Amino acid sequence: MWVAAKRTPAPRPTVTLLSVRTPGTPRLALLGVAAAFLLPALSAGTATWQEKASDHFQVFYLEDRVFASEVSRTAERLYSSISNELGFDRAVKKHHLAFWLWNDRCKIYLYPTRREYVLATGAPAWSAGFVRYRERVIHSYEGSDTFLDSTLPHELAHILFRELVGYDNPQVPRWLDEGVARYAEGSDREAIREQVRQRVRTTGYFPFTTLHNAQPRALDGDGVQTYYLQAESVVSFLIESYGSGRFVDLCANLRDGYPIDRALSFATGSRIASLQDLEAAWLRFIGG
Ligand SMILES: [Zn+2]
Repeated sequence: MWVAAKRTPAPRPTVTLLSVRTPGTPRLALLGVAAAFLLPALSAGTATWQEKASDHFQVFYLEDRVFASEVSRTAERLYSSISNELGFDRAVKKHHLAFWLWNDRCKIYLYPTRREYVLATGAPAWSAGFVRYRERVIHSYEGSDTFLDSTLPHELAHILFRELVGYDNPQVPRWLDEGVARYAEGSDREAIREQVRQRVRTTGYFPFTTLHNAQPRALDGDGVQTYYLQAESVVSFLIESYGSGRFVDLCANLRDGYPIDRALSFATGSRIASLQDLEAAWLRFIGG
């Protein structure tokens, strides 16, 4: 799921909204003075964020308490399952990662409508989420049909992964970051394997030296699909073949500054010591 990069500052939890009610139109709420004069003759009202708090999350909402509760429950469940499946829970102590507790909890803002979400964040209208990774802040809107199923797990995994490997770490390939996030969405593993197998046999796949340096934004539609499928499949291969403990070792090696070949070699007991080795082993895994 594409999520916009940083654009406008995130609102504070107690931010005040300018709200409008005009006959026959839904309520509109705009953040800030600059946005306010986009719609003339507003009758100003105010609304403040309500909070649904849990161990690792603070969900802020304006209207829909039921949806906020569902987001809160789902976020806690995903936090546990993603941390466990990728081995990040065991890495917290070993690698001195920050806990998501008290003031360091992840904050999720739910705007009442897609329009208000777009106006507040500057994200494209087709996006389901807007994330500020370093601040552990996620924005979405009430009723988004893809937020709980794909955007939330995808973005939580990005945050957890980047906290482990480090931000702006040149040793961390984009495919690994996106592969982890897609893996966390919990798609049917065997179905993904079959899709990748078909692509390898028909339209082809990215040689790993190409995958390693590719940027999905520079690819065409079919290339993007192959990129994400392949990235997810490689992460799936590494975790299923070597276990989450060694997968975390690979991530930690990258965090410690080792290039991908050495990071792979240390994590796999020298069985995979290069991108070429990884490609050959992955092709055997998918049966391509
Ligand atoms: Zn992503």
